[in-house]
Amino acid sequence: MKILVVNAGSSSLKYQLLDMKDESVIAKGNCDRIGIDGHVSAKTGDGRHIEEDCNFPTHTEAFEKLVEVLTSGETKVIDSMSEISAVGHRIVQGAEVFKETCLVTDEVIDQIDALAELAPVHNHPHALALRACKAVIPAGTPQVVVFDTAFHSTMPRKAYLYGLPYECYTDLHVRKYGFHGTSHSFVSKRAVDFLGLDKDNSKVIVCHLGNGSSISAVVNGECVDTTMGLTPLEGVVMGTRSGNIDPAIMEFIAKKENLDIEGIMNVLNKKSGVFGLSGGISSDFRDLNDAAQSGNEDAANAIDVLCYGIAKFVGGYVAAMNGVDAIVFTAGLGENNIVVREQVLNHFGYMGITLDKEANQIRGEEKIISTPDSKVTVAVIPTNEELAIAHETVALLK
Ligand code: AMP
Repeated sequence: MKILVVNAGSSSLKYQLLDMKDESVIAKGNCDRIGIDGHVSAKTGDGRHIEEDCNFPTHTEAFEKLVEVLTSGETKVIDSMSEISAVGHRIVQGAEVFKETCLVTDEVIDQIDALAELAPVHNHPHALALRACKAVIPAGTPQVVVFDTAFHSTMPRKAYLYGLPYECYTDLHVRKYGFHGTSHSFVSKRAVDFLGLDKDNSKVIVCHLGNGSSISAVVNGECVDTTMGLTPLEGVVMGTRSGNIDPAIMEFIAKKENLDIEGIMNVLNKKSGVFGLSGGISSDFRDLNDAAQSGNEDAANAIDVLCYGIAKFVGGYVAAMNGVDAIVFTAGLGENNIVVREQVLNHFGYMGITLDKEANQIRGEEKIISTPDSKVTVAVIPTNEELAIAHETVALLK
């Protein structure tokens, strides 16, 4: 069974074609710069590769190109799109309308578009891509939508409500939704299997740390809390995003710097996080680690703020769950950053967590990094959002 996974942004269309027989990647790539000019980069599992400038006025032309690179030329991997059993689309915001994966209909596309108010950067492009996909794939091929927010829909009210007037929730739908749900779901399930936990009696904390970061608390396979909120700006300090701040800071900076709300949001989304904290050195932790190692105090400071913040959220979730069986690190930073993992775990001696420093010297590998006598198991588990979307797609078809 071949599943095409699509992750559409406002100007890009990333794809992976997976063979679910052995979960291998048959092809992957990106139709980029939609609405600007157009560029395709496509790779096949056996190493063939193209880079080409194109013309993508809309998502429809980008989808037509995607079909072309899969079915013809240097990167051909299938004879026709009818070989694809289904298309699984990543959708960022499902709000309270979509609590689980579902099949695409015209009504579903309209509803996803209508939720753009809650995710302006993502949901409208998702809707454009869904319509474009429908136009180019064979009529009988099912399209499935998998929501970043769905895994978090099990959060209890006390976790998802903000301390705002209740009408903000009832009338405006302002609440914590959480993001990276596909990754949290995939990694927490994998943690149960890999660590031999009892799924129905398990407490797992997943630290998805990348350019954007979020942490979730998962009890018996269900999310009970997560750090991202109405938008992916809430929570821990990220690459360029501030994470949690005193909301009154926005007014303070606006007045001092003469900024409107757009200007403030630009500061919080693009100029903050470890990038801002380090005085603009980088949002990439490889650069920050290097700078800190060569004695740059601003870089070391940014890493300290991040690790301290992560430790406080993890500690809070241990309290929320009244215990924890496993803490798992995933995504670019969580899987690869030895220093950050060590610095975070240094906070948990009180819980009887002991890091196996040698085991921690790994990047991008599935591994237990706590000592055998550690009271809580700590592990690195690589995430794979495309595969998770493909699994969800297959599960729905069954
Ligand atoms: P993601 O958003 O999941 O792709 O993660 C991107 C982040 O992971 C960036 O900040 C990278 O610096 C970080 N990262 C990736 N590889 C490494 C590495 N080898 N060492 C440290 N950080 C890394």
